[in-house]
Amino acid sequence: MCKWLHEQLEQLPIIKYPFKLEKLPENGIYFFYEKDEIWGHGKNKLRIVRIGTHKKQGNFRSRITEHYLLGLCESKMNFDKNKPKPSDRSIFRKNIGRALINKQKKYKEYLPIWEIDFTKSKNIKSFGNKRNIDKENEIESAITKTLRDRFYFRFIKIDSQSERKTLERLLIGTVASCDSCKKSDRWLGNYSPKMQIKNSGLWLVQHLKANGIDENHKKTILKAIKCTKEWIKLIKNHKKILALNRSPKFLLCKDFF
Ligand SMILES: [Zn+2]
Repeated sequence: MCKWLHEQLEQLPIIKYPFKLEKLPENGIYFFYEKDEIWGHGKNKLRIVRIGTHKKQGNFRSRITEHYLLGLCESKMNFDKNKPKPSDRSIFRKNIGRALINKQKKYKEYLPIWEIDFTKSKNIKSFGNKRNIDKENEIESAITKTLRDRFYFRFIKIDSQSERKTLERLLIGTVASCDSCKKSDRWLGNYSPKMQIKNSGLWLVQHLKANGIDENHKKTILKAIKCTKEWIKLIKNHKKILALNRSPKFLLCKDFF
């Protein structure tokens, strides 16, 4: 199933930084690939290293923005002791940060502070004065550079929240249970303090033991890929995205389950 999933997703474009946010859907599931991380099913193809989605309707683009720190999100780098760092808003960034910190001696002792979630005001009160903002800035910049230079993604457009949630779990279960796809010796995640990441070869800690997809889900995924391809074609032909979102053809895509 893992091989099948990788191959089917190849029908879709792979997105590399820089890219236009308007070319992303409002709702979907993303599949991240990482430079030098090769799948185990023959030939040198990239393997999936992370699968994710968003909870709130319409938030796919902002989720990607928070990972890559794009557009307005870039101003989130102007944080101080009383504000959360960008990685407190993206678990993907936080995990890359954990590995980068663990990899470098000069950062290592900062890991306990890095772990603290400063979106919570009680943490700002209790631990804010322990923060080294210069250091956090350096780490955040390194994360952004790593993400932009070494990671690529594909997406499938899925408009129903519950379907996204179910599929996310099953898709993660599918790649996590593959015995052929393995992390490389030089994989950054080898430095992760999270055993789930280190052992699975995926930038994930949840759903690693979930069931994989079955024949029925395969049909659903193929439908979603088809719909995504149509949508990509449509936005290429339409300059006004807002107008497109109201078009009848777009609405059709919401009902593919
Ligand atoms: Zn595999």
